[in-house]
Amino acid sequence: MLPFESNRLLSVLPPGEVEGLKAAAQPKRFPAGSTIFQEGDPGDGLYFILEGAVQISAMVNPEQRRVLARLQEGDFFGEMVVVDNAPRSATAVAEGDLQVCFVPSQVMLDLLLRCPRLAINLVKLFSQRTRDFNRLYIQEVLQAERLTLVGRFARSIVHDFKNPLNIIGISAEMGAMDSATSEMRQTARNRIRKQVDRLSNMINELLEFTRGSQGSVVPATTEYAAYLLPLIEEISAEVAVKNVTLQLVNPPPAVTLLLNPGRLTHVFYNLVHNAVDAMMPDGGRILLRFSTSDTAVITEIEDTGKGIAPEIAGRLFEPFATFGKAQGTGLGLSIARRIIQDHGGQIQARSEPGRGAIFSFTLPRR
Ligand code: ADP
Repeated sequence: MLPFESNRLLSVLPPGEVEGLKAAAQPKRFPAGSTIFQEGDPGDGLYFILEGAVQISAMVNPEQRRVLARLQEGDFFGEMVVVDNAPRSATAVAEGDLQVCFVPSQVMLDLLLRCPRLAINLVKLFSQRTRDFNRLYIQEVLQAERLTLVGRFARSIVHDFKNPLNIIGISAEMGAMDSATSEMRQTARNRIRKQVDRLSNMINELLEFTRGSQGSVVPATTEYAAYLLPLIEEISAEVAVKNVTLQLVNPPPAVTLLLNPGRLTHVFYNLVHNAVDAMMPDGGRILLRFSTSDTAVITEIEDTGKGIAPEIAGRLFEPFATFGKAQGTGLGLSIARRIIQDHGGQIQARSEPGRGAIFSFTLPRR
């Protein structure tokens, strides 16, 4: 058993004061598992642990109690009441058989007034405890946040993967039919290949996003119209089944840009899927419009959907900002913005009452 005067709080007391405190202190024993005090009890004094250990816990919500600290011989607890005289804000339970010395608040307060070194030591030990607790708390908050993010990503993956997986499923069945001609098999094979590429692009994007990196744009000199026309054909076929037609207001410009075609394709898919979602269930039209300036190519994607809801208009491109969609994850536009920015361009959106949305992005010309 540790002598009372060896407690870490009392190490700074002059010997005369130690004797006086000893005389005022009341030795107490608590069997294992017993409650020494609990939340709401009047704060009556300070406990010095001579032998055994104490668990300090508090309710963090109506159903959950959390252990805040575990204290051992040489430690003290219940110190807050000496300063604030308020009811107990936590519960103290003896872990094993416990021996303590109890010092009433008033005795402790008188001693603190007489002995500034003791007051400073109390503040020092108390702030150490607070810092340790804060560190633990921040770690837990970060961990909880990470887990929430993982959950959101899991949902996002499920949602974004549904379309390509459906196409792969249908194409596989078409290609495997007894009556399938070699031409049908070839078409099915091409479709599956494209969707597998698309899925792996998405995985890369998500990985980039979770890593929080800028992403590795490996740009290639690309002729914009030559890149875009087959992509538009592919997207048109996909949206046609949802009663949506894709129309070119003017042809894409035959200019050479520095692009990462795989990543830019992801932007087109994200914008088109959002447009399709906004036109459900009746379908509608998506208009693609292009213009060029000396420094950039501007691509506009307009739809005839319900328009951008005012509730989300200011946060469209923020991660996890989603509105009006049961399956929305709010990642699509933030990923699109990152890809466009990685290309040195900008993306924006506008919507007028009674009209659909117009998303436009710039890509710099060399
Ligand atoms: P998600 O589609 O998963 O919600 P996004 O980042 O792609 O995430 O889009 C964020 C939100 O922006 C959507 O939830 C929707 O409310 C709005 N939005 C995006 N595109 C359009 C559009 N073409 N028309 C109307 N609202 C849109």
